Amino acid sequence: MKNFQYFKPKSLKEASEILSKHKGKAHILNGGTDLIIRMRDRIIEPEVVVDIKEIDELNSIHLNKHGELIIGACVNLNDIAHNKIVDENYDFLSKAAHMVGSSQVRNRATMVGNICNASPLADTATPLLALDAKVLVYGAEGKKEISIHDFFIWVRKTCLKIGEIVIGIKIPSYSNDILGDFQKISRRKMVDLSTVCGTVLKNGDDIRIALGAVSPTPIRLRKTEGFIKGKELTEEVIKKALEVAVSEISPIDDIRASKEYRINMTKVIIKRGLKKIRQKNLALAEG
Ligand SMILES: Cc1cc2nc3c(=O)[nH]c(=O)nc-3n(C[C@H](O)[C@H](O)[C@H](O)COP(=O)(O)OP(=O)(O)OC[C@H]3O[C@@H](n4cnc5c(N)ncnc54)[C@H](O)[C@@H]3O)c2cc1C
Repeated sequence: MKNFQYFKPKSLKEASEILSKHKGKAHILNGGTDLIIRMRDRIIEPEVVVDIKEIDELNSIHLNKHGELIIGACVNLNDIAHNKIVDENYDFLSKAAHMVGSSQVRNRATMVGNICNASPLADTATPLLALDAKVLVYGAEGKKEISIHDFFIWVRKTCLKIGEIVIGIKIPSYSNDILGDFQKISRRKMVDLSTVCGTVLKNGDDIRIALGAVSPTPIRLRKTEGFIKGKELTEEVIKKALEVAVSEISPIDDIRASKEYRINMTKVIIKRGLKKIRQKNLALAEG
């Protein structure tokens, strides 16, 4: 690994100034489970590393006064997966956090690092896309919110500008009971990256579908959602929805799987998610 200068600022202002001063040569260090590996393998060779973990305000999970859930940038994935509020309200997000790597990895890795790394297969991206989460950002002009839908630009590319730091994730407050289903298909049951992952979510009459590892960024399947809207989830509707879904993805062949396998697993994930919602609808109708 190439030598680098290490900074551990105590405030966002200080961190942002160091990042801006060193322009593209400085990288943020959070849990380090992606960054350090890329540095070790010399894929990236930052001159400056800015460790943000001692900035107090980045280390909590809480509900704000509007009932929105704020997950700080440096909260690790084990703490998110075991958090009572997350588990009781968004069990599928808790499951996605729990499915990343091993317990040792999750003791370091963060959800914000997972999305900032911008891998198409990031496990926590699809629940956040389905939840219409906001990415909270600090930069030279102060704080701002970016919709998660605008955050991912391409493989390993986000819309963040130089000097900007993600300070947390905001999950809107839902008045309806939401039902979500996160699934991860991988070669091994544990400690493996996703071959395909996805979240199917019911929010009132709305059904949302987000997938990972089937296009350059994690995506929402808007056409499929539009096709399903207002329809009863019969076998025929589900079958047609899967055809629409396949038209919205662009999976590739790689060491983990073929394109065809990814298409098939996309169908499996969506079908299971929709059937779970259908069961819930039936249970509600039966009172
Ligand atoms: C053994 C192993 C298994 C893994 N398994 C999985 C898996 O199953 N699923 C999965 O999705 N991933 C997996 N990963 C990848 C990794 O653990 C996750 O992506 C993790 O969530 C990254 O978080 P981190 O805090 O460690 O990020 P870091 O490594 O600290 O950072 C990742 C990137 O995000 C940037 N960044 C971090 N925080 C911020 C911020 N606040 N603002 C702006 N930029 C920021 C960094 O500069 C860096 O470019 C695995 C990694 C390992 C080593």
